[in-house]
Amino acid sequence: MDAITPYKEILQMYWEKVTGFVNARCDGLEPWQLIGLTFSSTLASVWLHGFLCQPESLTSRTKKQFFKLLRKMPFVGAIIQKKIDEALNDVTSSLSFLKDEREYIKALPEQGMSQPEVLQKMKEYSSKGDVRWQDGKVSGTVYSGEEKLTHLLVKVYEEFAWSNPLHPDIFPGLRKMEAEVVRIACTLFHGGPKSCGAMTSGGTESILMACKAYRDLAYERGIKQPEMLVPVSAHAAFDKAAHYFGMKLIQIPLTKAMEVDVQAMRRAISRNTAMLVCSAPQFPHGIMDPIEEVAELAVRYKIPFHVDACLGGFLIAFMDKAGFPLKRPFDFRVEGVTSISADTHKYGYAPKGSSVVLYSDKEYRKYQFFVAPDWQGGIYASPSVAGSRPGGIIAACWATLLHIGESGYVEATKRIIKTARFLESELRKIDSIFIFGKPEVSVLSIGSDTFDIYRLSNFLSAKGWNLNVLQFPPSIHLCITQLHTKPGVAEQFLQDVRDSIQDIMKDLNAKTTGMGAIYGMAQSVPDRSLVAEISQAYLDGLYSTDVLSTEKHMNGSPSHH
Ligand SMILES: *Cc1c(COP(=O)(O)O)cnc(C)c1O
Repeated sequence: MDAITPYKEILQMYWEKVTGFVNARCDGLEPWQLIGLTFSSTLASVWLHGFLCQPESLTSRTKKQFFKLLRKMPFVGAIIQKKIDEALNDVTSSLSFLKDEREYIKALPEQGMSQPEVLQKMKEYSSKGDVRWQDGKVSGTVYSGEEKLTHLLVKVYEEFAWSNPLHPDIFPGLRKMEAEVVRIACTLFHGGPKSCGAMTSGGTESILMACKAYRDLAYERGIKQPEMLVPVSAHAAFDKAAHYFGMKLIQIPLTKAMEVDVQAMRRAISRNTAMLVCSAPQFPHGIMDPIEEVAELAVRYKIPFHVDACLGGFLIAFMDKAGFPLKRPFDFRVEGVTSISADTHKYGYAPKGSSVVLYSDKEYRKYQFFVAPDWQGGIYASPSVAGSRPGGIIAACWATLLHIGESGYVEATKRIIKTARFLESELRKIDSIFIFGKPEVSVLSIGSDTFDIYRLSNFLSAKGWNLNVLQFPPSIHLCITQLHTKPGVAEQFLQDVRDSIQDIMKDLNAKTTGMGAIYGMAQSVPDRSLVAEISQAYLDGLYSTDVLSTEKHMNGSPSHH
């Protein structure tokens, strides 16, 4: 008691001082003035809170506002606009897929074409493009491409072409197939008896669904502004989710090894944190994030934890049996991992339009579901973004898993990782380039301190290759698929890399041209909304049915950049 009394007295003294001060300040004020002041200061603080606390940070908003103003200024604005117009022109004229189109169908044919006519017309379209993905010239994109599998998929699709899992009473077999695909995936990732999931249209939708589930869980826990902590290397689908669902995305930096910085992730955790994210592996450099360590944070702070295994899920699940055990565990065996996304349409070798999102417990999945109990069209319950879904794709995915089987996946994983390790060791022998981090799976990301790495990308493109271009830091990567395991493909790639570098080294000061130049330029623009605006031209281009004028085409080619 004695120890507390002095504190009490001190507090009392301060309290009297404060109230005395406030009262003295109010001396001579009319009651209506007091009420008015209280009311307006409350309004002001509510406004200030709303202004400061938005999904987009204050600095980012200020920056945007600044650049917006800059563009409105008399001279500077005109110069910027001119640069934008030039860049727009550059982008449009460098879209290879628009260049040679001379005509488009813009309305229904008055009379339907006969089937042979349609098939003949189709051939015109399927033979377009000169990148030989069938010969393993492309990074990622097509993960199997095996002809025998194609024939099976077409037969299965045919049988289920008109089916739709929205009507399980009409297509009960399809419901069973989807449930089996999800269960097979749960088993692969060592989910417990409570594990569950859903099929989606792809990795992006799987990620969207997990984010939506955790957002709604956060709402229920009383978090008004849910935040996700996402490694900068994580897929852009998380940005998309944050954008669609009004969440705040907080980027967590990487270590030198290109793994997410666990300490930085810990420091970013707040009362508003709705979910943690790791990738297994991440897309840019193919590096596995430290899932165990982040899972510890997830357990300690009771935060849901999503592992994005969209890219490599169907490789990492077989690494042990393929003889390439991973350094650290990554799946539901790690306590704290509450969900996993894995793309059946990547290393699962199923056709595009299929993926799974898995949860350790139904308690999480229920927040993914959507129910409209009052719709005039009936009580509407739907598991994911789409309403009707393509049953044919689900059936084809199911058929792929059954046809390839464990031994098939283990064999494919063996071949792919062997090729990746061979390419890695050979590429590391070349002095002027380096590999980012220590990739354990199928992606090799190449950088250089000697020359602009985008030049290597250009040189390789000229030799028929198509690699992924990455930024921050500039690099290019090869995502190794079954097509690269065919005899001679890896050797040809190495030869072409060596030859290209030899040519590049002949003139170290040469300017980067083409797409590489556009990427280099885009990274140096401080106003990111400009880059976004110019990228819209690319999206517009996808839907273009205008024939590019020949004239512009003739003098709009590479020299322009
Ligand atoms: C491919 C990929 C995704 C999602 O891709 P979709 O194109 O939507 O299937 C998500 N995360 C990673 C790491 C990926 O590589």
